[in-house]
Amino acid sequence: MAVPKRKVSKARRDKRRSNVWKLGAPTLAECPQCHALKAPHKACPECGYVNADLSVKDGKITVKAAAAKKEEAKVVEETVAVEETEAVEEASAE
Ligand SMILES: [Zn+2]
Repeated sequence: MAVPKRKVSKARRDKRRSNVWKLGAPTLAECPQCHALKAPHKACPECGYVNADLSVKDGKITVKAAAAKKEEAKVVEETVAVEETEAVEEASAE
């Protein structure tokens, strides 16, 4: 049988018996899309809303048009940058 190694002090015993360990109510925020209560900074369990550009539903992540356009713009910028470096390399080779 397991036996306590030390006597539990009055302070420790009384702290355990006090209501310090009672659980508080969870903080909830309203979902801006469906107005259900949800945990803040988490995807909404009702509609899957994360933010304007992103939603998660049934394990599927949906990236909306605005975010997709941003990605496209980034790719175009990168292509332009590559072309510029190639042009510079050609010029220096001559
Ligand atoms: Zn929602």
